[in-house]
Amino acid sequence: MTNGLDFNTPIHLVPGVGTPRAPIFERLGIRKAIDLLFHFPRSYQEVSQCQSVLELQEGILATVVGVVVDIDSRFRFDGHSSVGVLLAVDGGGYVRCTWYNQPFRREAYARGQRVLARGVVKSSGVAYQMRHPEITLLDPDEPPPEARPRAIYPLTEGLTQRMLSSAIEAALPLAQNIEEALPAELRQNAATLLKPGSAALLAIDQALVQIHQPVDMAQAHAARLRFIFQEFFVLQLALAMHRYAYQHERPAPSIESNAMIHTRILNRFPFRLTDDQRKVIEEVRADMSRTIPMNRLLQGDVGTGKTAIAQYAMLSAVANQHQAVLMAPTELLARQHAKKLHEQLEGSRVEIALLVSSMPGSEKRELLQRIAIGTVDIVVGTQALLSEQVEFSKLGVVVIDEQHRFGVQQRASLRTTRTAPHYLVMTATPIPRTLALTLFGDLDVSTLKQRPPGQSPVQTYVLSPGLMERWWNFVKQQVQAGRQVYVVAPRVESDDEKEILGAVQWWKQLSEGPLQGLRVELLHGRMESQHKQSALDRFTQGAIDVLVASTVIEVGIDVPNATVMTIADADRLGLAQLHQLRGRVGRGKYPGFVGLIPSATAVGNSSVGSSKEHEQVPQTKRQVEGQQSDSDKIQWLEQFAKIQDGFELAELDLRRRGPGEIIGTRQTGLPEFRIADISQDEQVLMVARSLAGQLIDDDPQLKSPDHSRLLRQVVAKHGKLMPVGDVG
Ligand code: ADP
Ligand code: MG
Repeated sequence: MTNGLDFNTPIHLVPGVGTPRAPIFERLGIRKAIDLLFHFPRSYQEVSQCQSVLELQEGILATVVGVVVDIDSRFRFDGHSSVGVLLAVDGGGYVRCTWYNQPFRREAYARGQRVLARGVVKSSGVAYQMRHPEITLLDPDEPPPEARPRAIYPLTEGLTQRMLSSAIEAALPLAQNIEEALPAELRQNAATLLKPGSAALLAIDQALVQIHQPVDMAQAHAARLRFIFQEFFVLQLALAMHRYAYQHERPAPSIESNAMIHTRILNRFPFRLTDDQRKVIEEVRADMSRTIPMNRLLQGDVGTGKTAIAQYAMLSAVANQHQAVLMAPTELLARQHAKKLHEQLEGSRVEIALLVSSMPGSEKRELLQRIAIGTVDIVVGTQALLSEQVEFSKLGVVVIDEQHRFGVQQRASLRTTRTAPHYLVMTATPIPRTLALTLFGDLDVSTLKQRPPGQSPVQTYVLSPGLMERWWNFVKQQVQAGRQVYVVAPRVESDDEKEILGAVQWWKQLSEGPLQGLRVELLHGRMESQHKQSALDRFTQGAIDVLVASTVIEVGIDVPNATVMTIADADRLGLAQLHQLRGRVGRGKYPGFVGLIPSATAVGNSSVGSSKEHEQVPQTKRQVEGQQSDSDKIQWLEQFAKIQDGFELAELDLRRRGPGEIIGTRQTGLPEFRIADISQDEQVLMVARSLAGQLIDDDPQLKSPDHSRLLRQVVAKHGKLMPVGDVG
């Protein structure tokens, strides 16, 4: 093979690397010669073009092309010498090149010779000079070289661009021997879908050469496109295979909600469904009527009315003599769901049961038995509990509400033996479309965008210390007008060092201070279950004016009479959390108001609300704590305050922080991309997804020899997504 390298040549044997530098390459994951080929540039830099004399600047490196018009040399008494070459530069003007103590230069050039000179420009006032420039001889009519993009690589300490690019150059001939994983037809189809009439995506050998050594940027883009597509395509294949296997493993019960059942369910709703809700219900209805298990994600911003869809799915299962499960992330939310179902189904024979960890053991055992023999129709409970050993008699549908953790592995699995249930996963965490497709390529996605009528706008304010007194007065007015109020603190107890006031302390200070005389009560995650529930119940009934809470109330809580929410240390919460919290107000006919108190406001030391003389918190201490400066944090809150739409916020957040951060990389199962960027390459992702789906429909297990290399890549990169049995 060319220059003695093969794919597996250890990195230290690659010319120019050597044993001492090998560990530095290994730090970048480059262990073998072939790894060099797949260490892709992070960007390109145009290597400087030739300049005209007018463009030259003192002290700046430049390249000129010109003809030698004069040569002179001087010798001095002390033995030093200098050679000068005057160039008539293309486009007019002169540059003088000089060398000291290099007498051979005198003979190296001749008048009339065309040369390219590269060096740092000096201006002598009269003319431009280059001292000791690099000279390249040119043929008389040779055009000046075009600018070329030069690859810029991700580096690590101890490695320079030059070292890396020369090692890559040495390995580049290996590109000719790499097997092509993408069939030619697929490369053509992808290119056509991306841009009708365009040539096929580059073959692997050409793409490798062009990504490292493009002649122009068009070549570099074409090469990157191929690899971006490949990366998405391999992931989408893995997801499509997962989906195919799941759909064909075991059949689901066909749940037909005929016209009569359909109308009977709709009549149970106390409102007219929105068009969006109707559309999603039709999607769910069609899915559930089939014997392929439904696997649908319902995304809808806070308040878009997802519960109605869940209720529809469950009631249609029950109407078909099947059981339904509704899982919620917190006990509070599970109880709220159970209560609403009871209200909605009053007078019907549907048996609803609540399964939560705080219930007595004997009661729980009895309930589990009733579920197993099928006398319970709908089970509502917390996810943790239901994922354990609950046996169902005839499970038809599983609804998972407020699912925040994603990735294929995280999906709660509940299976009955003979048949697979239909799954409906609901989330309000606004996930940008590209991210949803990446994570859930194997799920069908429905989206609720429209808001039900009767909800009111929510205004968000960032509260500066000077505004606090007015804010609490406003809160009092709202209570006097009959409304209710939340105050949320991210922590239960204070942390003096970080100057965070806990919910407990807020409750004390508010009820003794600015909100004295109102019915102020406390709710937080460390309270006993029954106390939590009773606080929430009384708030729901209007027996409490102000509920001071930790973030336990974040998801799902629905008290339409609550109109104001104050969020302390707001910048300590993630964007999705803030948005969820904000969704607790403006749910009824009254407009909502949210006040965000930035942590820097330091209401901490002084008492709540006496803010006229607010203390200046030393800047440095806070800045050490977080990466963001206080002004950044406040700006971010201001931006959040302006944007109402959860999806718009999520897109913004995706750009600002990158996908991993948004839902926490570790728990997402979000794959790492080498070259693709889901916030920029959406169109390629869509094409990859549709072609992957087609390919798996034709060859579900990639058994055809044409697909064997693809299968190998799928297993190597995403083996954990694959159903056991398909691997190997
Ligand atoms: P989320 O999507 O946040 O779970 P919910 O299902 O809790 O939203 O609905 C938010 C509020 O809107 C609830 O009070 C619910 O009763 C009400 N709602 C839902 N759908 C409609 C509708 N079509 N018309 C009027 N109100 C509705
Ligand atoms: Mg909800």
